[in-house]
Amino acid sequence: MKHVLCFLAAVFVFFFFSSFCEKNAADVLVVGTNAEFPPFEMRGGADGNEIVGFDIDVARKVAEKSGKRLIVEDMKFDALIPALNAGKVDMVLAGMTVTPERAENVDFSEPYYKVTQIVLLRGSDAGKIKKIDDLKGKKIAVALGTTGDTVASSLTSADGLVRFDSVFEAVMELKNGKVDLVLTDEALGGVLHSKNPDLARVDLPFKDEYYAAAVKKGNKKLLDQINASLEDLKNTGEMDILLERHFSE
Ligand code: GLN
Repeated sequence: MKHVLCFLAAVFVFFFFSSFCEKNAADVLVVGTNAEFPPFEMRGGADGNEIVGFDIDVARKVAEKSGKRLIVEDMKFDALIPALNAGKVDMVLAGMTVTPERAENVDFSEPYYKVTQIVLLRGSDAGKIKKIDDLKGKKIAVALGTTGDTVASSLTSADGLVRFDSVFEAVMELKNGKVDLVLTDEALGGVLHSKNPDLARVDLPFKDEYYAAAVKKGNKKLLDQINASLEDLKNTGEMDILLERHFSE
C-alpha cells in the first residue's frame, strides 16, 4: 500500500511539474539578440547590466501583443540564426539585415530600419580612402558573420580580413594600429565615431541594408504579431520617439 501511495505521489508530482513547465513555455516569448550593438541592443538600464535598446522595445511590444512575458537571450551574433532554428529562441531582433542567404533559413518581418556600411579609420589616415576600390588590399576588421564581414570578404583577401566577436574589439584593433580600417553598419559606426574623436568616418556608396526581425521558417503566427507590432509603432509615432531616445543616449 505504501509503495502504491509513493508511486501515485510521484506520478502526481511529475504531471504537476510538467504542466507547470508547459504553461510557462507557452507564457514566455524568447528574443535572441547580441547586446553589443548600440543603440539597438546594449547593456544598460538601472543596474547597467540590463539588456536595453530599440530592438528590445520592439520585442517587448510583440510580447505585450501576444500576452506573453519577454525573456532576452544574449549570444554571439553568428549564433542567433542557429539558436532560432534549434528552437532556443522564438525570434531574433539584433539589427539583423535581410539578406537572400539568411532568408533561405529564416522568415523575416517587414523591414523597420535602413542602413548602409561605413568605414572607420584612424584620424591620421583620413583622406586615404576615397572610393570602395581603395579598400582592396587593406587590412579590414569586422564583426564575425555580419554584413560588414560579407562586404569585406568581397573586397580583400582572407589574409586581409580580421574577424572579431564584436565591432568594439575591431575598433580597439584599429586604435592599436593592427588593422587599417573597420567596416560596420552606419547605425553603430556613427555612434562609435562620435564617441571616438580620434577616428575618421568615410561614407561610400555601399548598398542599402534593411533591418528586420527573424522567426523560424513557417512561424506565421509570430511573424504576423511582429508585423502588427511594427505597424502600431509606426502609426502611433512611437517608433520615431524610441529611435530618437536610443540614438541620443
Ligand atoms: N546589420 C548587420 C548584419 O545583419 C550587423 C548586425 C549586428 O552586428 N548586430 O549582419
